[in-house]
Amino acid sequence: MLTSGGTPAPDAPVLRTGGVPLVPPGFTWPACAECEGAMQFIAHLPLDDGAVAVFYCQNAGMCDDWDATSGANRAFLFTEELQAAEVPTEGDTLLGAVTLLHPEAAPAPDDVVLGQLGGEPEWIQNDETPTCPRCAAPMTFTAALEEGLHHDTAANFGCGCGYVFTCRDCSEAAFLWQR
Ligand SMILES: [Zn+2]
Ligand SMILES: [Zn+2]
Repeated sequence: MLTSGGTPAPDAPVLRTGGVPLVPPGFTWPACAECEGAMQFIAHLPLDDGAVAVFYCQNAGMCDDWDATSGANRAFLFTEELQAAEVPTEGDTLLGAVTLLHPEAAPAPDDVVLGQLGGEPEWIQNDETPTCPRCAAPMTFTAALEEGLHHDTAANFGCGCGYVFTCRDCSEAAFLWQR
């Protein structure tokens, strides 16, 4: 389980929701394929061989940002040296809070569970494991993300849950959410 572990710096290289994405040099902030607006950064997930950055569209409120293949969300698996991204001046690009997510094997009763790291996904709807856009193999479940601590600063998964997948061989990542 992932529990809330406080408020890190916005560019801290730790497992967190919110803050600023850490990206390789030359990175282009993703734009939504449906509305063309700048996506919102959701989460930074360090892995032992890289880091995942998750984005989704929050501009029009009409884009299919829940769908792993719509182009209205985007997850990257970076294996390069990373630095804080330059944030676009237009669009709803950042969450209202930065939250450290702390892996906790056995959460205490008063811990707020904000996600899951590895293991098997707990699907709300049907199994929607994406296939890798490069090798077409089923991707590996990497993390689940709850919306967050407070409604006004949380992500919007329709009161559901976000799912992050990776293909480590291809350095690909994917994101979707269900409600
Ligand atoms: Zn959009
Ligand atoms: Zn692959």
